[in-house]
Amino acid sequence: MFKPRLDLRLAQRQKMVPKMMVASELMVMNVVQLEEKLARLAEENPFLDSQEDMICYGCGAAISGYPEFCPACGRLIYVKEKKEFPVEELSLMETKRSWKEILREEVEVFVDLTPGEKEIFHVLLASLDASGFLGVDVARIAFSLQRSEEEVWKVIEKVREAGFLGFASRDALEFLLLQAQKLGLLKNKDMAILRREVMKEPDAFRELLAPHLQELFMSPAQFFEASLGREREEIQREEETVVPDAEIVEVIEGEFEVVLNTPPSLRLSISEEALVLSKKKNTMSAKELAFWQEKIREAKEIVSCLSYRHRLLLHVLEYIVEKEKNFLTHGFQHFVPLRQRDIADALGVSVSAVCQVLKNKYLRFPDGVVRPVKFFFDASYPVKEAIKIILKEENPLCPLSDEAIAVELRKRGFAIARRTCALYREEMGILPSYLRRKTALK
Ligand SMILES: [Zn+2]
Repeated sequence: MFKPRLDLRLAQRQKMVPKMMVASELMVMNVVQLEEKLARLAEENPFLDSQEDMICYGCGAAISGYPEFCPACGRLIYVKEKKEFPVEELSLMETKRSWKEILREEVEVFVDLTPGEKEIFHVLLASLDASGFLGVDVARIAFSLQRSEEEVWKVIEKVREAGFLGFASRDALEFLLLQAQKLGLLKNKDMAILRREVMKEPDAFRELLAPHLQELFMSPAQFFEASLGREREEIQREEETVVPDAEIVEVIEGEFEVVLNTPPSLRLSISEEALVLSKKKNTMSAKELAFWQEKIREAKEIVSCLSYRHRLLLHVLEYIVEKEKNFLTHGFQHFVPLRQRDIADALGVSVSAVCQVLKNKYLRFPDGVVRPVKFFFDASYPVKEAIKIILKEENPLCPLSDEAIAVELRKRGFAIARRTCALYREEMGILPSYLRRKTALK
């Protein structure tokens, strides 16, 4: 009796794994990536067909033709316009982005930090040297911010736990120890004790690491370059045009709707062949039958994951647009950075599902500019737009200092510290004021 039950459990597990993999893989893809992926899947699986009928991912109705509004629920579902737009000229998406900038953006979007913790994070980030090591004592950072050392450490731990390994390591040894901990080679958690042990027996430590040399990084910068690098490539590739995953349309003044961009290639269904095949069951060998049944199962799985992705994306975006109505109507002073956790709670899904479905996605805003969805989670975006406007108006012979920019920002409703202002300016590739003056004098 025991054995079959075991087999069954194993079979169930095998069934679970690919499904979850497909689901999360499809979720993180944007329109362009998804089109490529689905074309490949459809080539390998004859039961996948692109669907002619439009689908309203709000209510699930299948709709023929191209009506503007869903006949079932009234949602705007179709916009008669071209779908490719130039990327915003804002330097946010420039190709020469440093690991520091991508790191800041990723942490602000994916790590749940309070405004106070964000300030600590900014100072830590600004104190990292070119190799990614923290050049200043945590105690000094705490003192300069008038916070406790525990508070600073809490931020460091939070960032590290979110996958930014070795963030704010003081030196190469600490970074190595953190990596060894992560690989499960060290049991002890206390850095001071570990450090002492290594100093006492350096050869033992070297031996411990020897089998893992391939997996180790020499500096946090090297690690960040490697782990954040993929996204950077994508930014470069998509530099010229971006296909938005959805569009925010102002239907009447102050009322916005989200229209998902789902061309037929993104609307797969099970082809008729599957039905025909199921009727021919008796003429097939057991092996053949098993093969085709597996293909049908796979096709169904892909279709259901895909439709889940579209539905979730639409509902998440609708929630965001509802929350940002004031910003969309009245401008940047009304921008409120959102938290993925709040969206997850409101929609009753997991935070990781929200994270996945928003990753890599682009939105066309009512002003015609295409921006990454990350925009809504990163308090720096509207501030950067405001800085750009402020600097456009500055006297080139008398450029504004970071302090003066911060004062201007305050007038526009952004309470931003001078050092945060300096950090954003740096990220945008804008020189400090004394160098801007020099350029103007030339
Ligand atoms: Zn509908």
